[in-house]
Amino acid sequence: MPLILALDEGTTSARAALYDEQGRRIAMESEPIPCRYPRPGWVEQDAREIWGAQLGSARRVLASAGEAASSLAAIGLTNQRETAIVWERRTGEPVAPAIVWQCRRTADYCAALAASGAAAKIAERTGLVIDAYFSASKIRWILDHVPDAPRRARDGELLFGNVDTWLVWKLTDGAAHVTDPSNASRTMLMDLSAGEWDEELLALFDIPRAMLPRIVPSSGAAGVAVGEHLGAEIPVAGIAGDQQAALAGQACFRPGLSKNTYGTGCFALLHTGARRPVSRNRLLATRAASLDATAQYAVEGAVFIAGAAIQWLRDKLGLIAAAAESEALAASAGSTGGVYFVPAFVGLGAPHWDQNARGLLTGITQSTGRPEIVRAALESIAYQTRELVEAMEADSGERLTELRADGGASANNFLMQFQADILGRPIVRPADIETTALGAAYLAGLAVGVWTSASELEQFWRAERIFEPRLSEDRRESLYAGWRRAVARCR
Ligand code: ADP
Repeated sequence: MPLILALDEGTTSARAALYDEQGRRIAMESEPIPCRYPRPGWVEQDAREIWGAQLGSARRVLASAGEAASSLAAIGLTNQRETAIVWERRTGEPVAPAIVWQCRRTADYCAALAASGAAAKIAERTGLVIDAYFSASKIRWILDHVPDAPRRARDGELLFGNVDTWLVWKLTDGAAHVTDPSNASRTMLMDLSAGEWDEELLALFDIPRAMLPRIVPSSGAAGVAVGEHLGAEIPVAGIAGDQQAALAGQACFRPGLSKNTYGTGCFALLHTGARRPVSRNRLLATRAASLDATAQYAVEGAVFIAGAAIQWLRDKLGLIAAAAESEALAASAGSTGGVYFVPAFVGLGAPHWDQNARGLLTGITQSTGRPEIVRAALESIAYQTRELVEAMEADSGERLTELRADGGASANNFLMQFQADILGRPIVRPADIETTALGAAYLAGLAVGVWTSASELEQFWRAERIFEPRLSEDRRESLYAGWRRAVARCR
């Protein structure tokens, strides 16, 4: 029976999962990836460690399932997006640390770019809002700080890639320097409608065309992993950025379907089909992972800090020993008693896009304790999601009937119930919340003929639990009004 290997390279870990023909996960392994914070607001990883963790988890998942590489029909790859890596074509050695998507080192550069009046053109061309989040300014930073890099890049000695490109290049031993439209649409260098690198944007950021990868379909032959890595040659047949892969893994293949992933950040995506969305509410227009060669789009709202707020309670405040403890503690509080926590640790993403906002805890009284603070942190994830959903609905003129949830923090029942309450809509949690890896497997399996259509994949999707809203409208709106006041204060 042919198996699909999904490689899911996230911000905190590299995972590898095996799927059978029924889309069932039969094994999963992961290895952590260290993050470094050399200065406030800077976030780096070592590209060699990313590759090592990804290869290690892939080998381990085959071993733990007792499978040989020869039983693999294809590899599907999904990755943390926007993170920028530049390496030497000849040696495969990175010339600088990977600049991670959360890194704020180019915030001033981006502010100057916005002040120069480039925002309208960039939005029209790329669907994006000027922000240090996207790859272009990070590539610029590397070119400006590595000796002789601009010349070497022009001469084709240096290559750029997001993490997908880097991993495919490593897997194929340098034979394939490629990316897919869902990743390329996050660089700020791609013409979103054309699906090609844009010469004017390359000139604006002064980035040589020669260092960029070729854009290939999300589902299709991208290269062949050489035999030395896993024990057999395997086609790499699917590539998508993590959020677009999760949209596919949630079987959201048609316009109007949406999901929200509760991980380090929160990412809500609404599929808009072949229609390129234009946001009037500061959301992003992006490429969905298309199942064929046609262009498919999504509108996206990105919140930078969601589950990361829970990590902060655990690692910096020591209020909890493990993320999962937050559920019972929050439920024990009954309410926050008017406490709001705005986790604007790295500014605010959509729909505010405020690089200078910082975190805030308001409404504290003598009765505020651990449960209230932990509850306020979880509630902040749900409030931020409501802001995204409202912006999406205002953009599309349509009301979402339900929201599909996934990601690590979607395991938290308190959070899911509060989300349903504060949104006033049901939240549907699927049986498999590892939708990112699943989506990558779908893209690869479709390309090699393990599956043949979206409708076949839609049948694999199953709800595990539906959280129905229980709060009265008055209570919901008064809680949300308090959140809006807190956000206004942190800006
Ligand atoms: P990523 O893919 O972004 O690395 P995951 O989807 O693995 O993230 O989710 C991990 C995040 O979810 C962490 O920030 C963690 O704090 C949070 N998290 C995990 N489990 C829970 C839980 N039960 N309750 C709340 N947050 C959780």
